[in-house]
Amino acid sequence: MIPFLDLKAINQRFEVEFHKSFKQFLESGYYILGNEVKVFEANFARFCDVKHCVGVGNGLDALRLILEGYKTLGKLKENDEVLVASNTYIATILAIKQAGLKPILVEADFNTYNFNIDSLKNSISENTKAIMPVHLYGQLSPMEEISKISKENNLLVIEDAAQAHGAKTREGKRAGNIGNAAGFSFYPTKNLGALGDGGAVTTNDDDLAEVIKKLRNYGTSTKYVNELLGFNSRLDELQAAFLNIKLPTLDSDNERRRIIAKKYISQINNKKIVLPKYDGGDNHVFHLFVVRVENRNHFIDYLDRNGIGHLIHYPIPPHKQKALLEYSHFNFPVTELIHNEVLSIPMSPLLTEEDVEKVISILNNY
Ligand SMILES: *Cc1c(COP(=O)(O)O)cnc(C)c1O
Repeated sequence: MIPFLDLKAINQRFEVEFHKSFKQFLESGYYILGNEVKVFEANFARFCDVKHCVGVGNGLDALRLILEGYKTLGKLKENDEVLVASNTYIATILAIKQAGLKPILVEADFNTYNFNIDSLKNSISENTKAIMPVHLYGQLSPMEEISKISKENNLLVIEDAAQAHGAKTREGKRAGNIGNAAGFSFYPTKNLGALGDGGAVTTNDDDLAEVIKKLRNYGTSTKYVNELLGFNSRLDELQAAFLNIKLPTLDSDNERRRIIAKKYISQINNKKIVLPKYDGGDNHVFHLFVVRVENRNHFIDYLDRNGIGHLIHYPIPPHKQKALLEYSHFNFPVTELIHNEVLSIPMSPLLTEEDVEKVISILNNY
């Protein structure tokens, strides 16, 4: 059996250091917004080559707090429109709604599963104030085009980088340093995952960073002095300690994912299976390796019989979810086709050569 993702094995690599760090944490007697969070913020800012990193409770809150921060700074206001991918994970859309803004869903590109640029341009109205590209499955959105469109229309660009820790543009810019601000998640399955919930905002904007530092902690900068109507969404001290231990391995893990992806792409040659389009660069960190097949249930039965793990990312598009009923009349044919056909196959830095070859041969024999 080749598991879809063996999280336990991924974290066991750091077991000794985790135990040591937990002991220090326990003995410190200091459990919220302590030194580990501070150190992680500095480490992750350096990793992304960005001025500021603010640790928050999770990825959803990271995105929401960016929007709330811009509202506090007067750059966004209630009901402003934010362009977002119609095939994203629902969190991106929820962040916009929770901040009192209006998500405008934009159709996906059939090849990259990121924004369709023509649809993006056509979705801009007088009320559009921001674009939220999601680097879906770990592949950077077309940021050059998005940046051009944002400049022409005076829009903020907020990256949903929850699946793309470490991805780089051709110029070497990391996810988290491409737009005005970015939200990251450290949910355990992400390329950089904690042992619980966690998230972060990265930005080069001094004012935004300062406001989010307040917003995440009840709107305070000094204890018991509330300047803003804040939230409670702090990166947990213990999770920050674990992330400090794992961060140095992120680049090599991503490289291993890319090597596996290249092998899958060059050796899976079954006409029934559509492989991801990938140019071989560092713009993709293969959070997921997503293929498409026409008769997905049939394919899933076959993988189950042959012991190959799999998951669907995602089975129901946001506009068909009960929670987003007000979008149900929209028509996004590419997004709907993607949701009907995608399947994620095993992808982990710990897959062995043998595992990879087994996956390839089973897929080729389908
Ligand atoms: C995981 C994820 C999020 C949300 O992160 P949480 O930490 O679970 O809140 C947001 N957007 C995308 C694209 C994600 O994959």
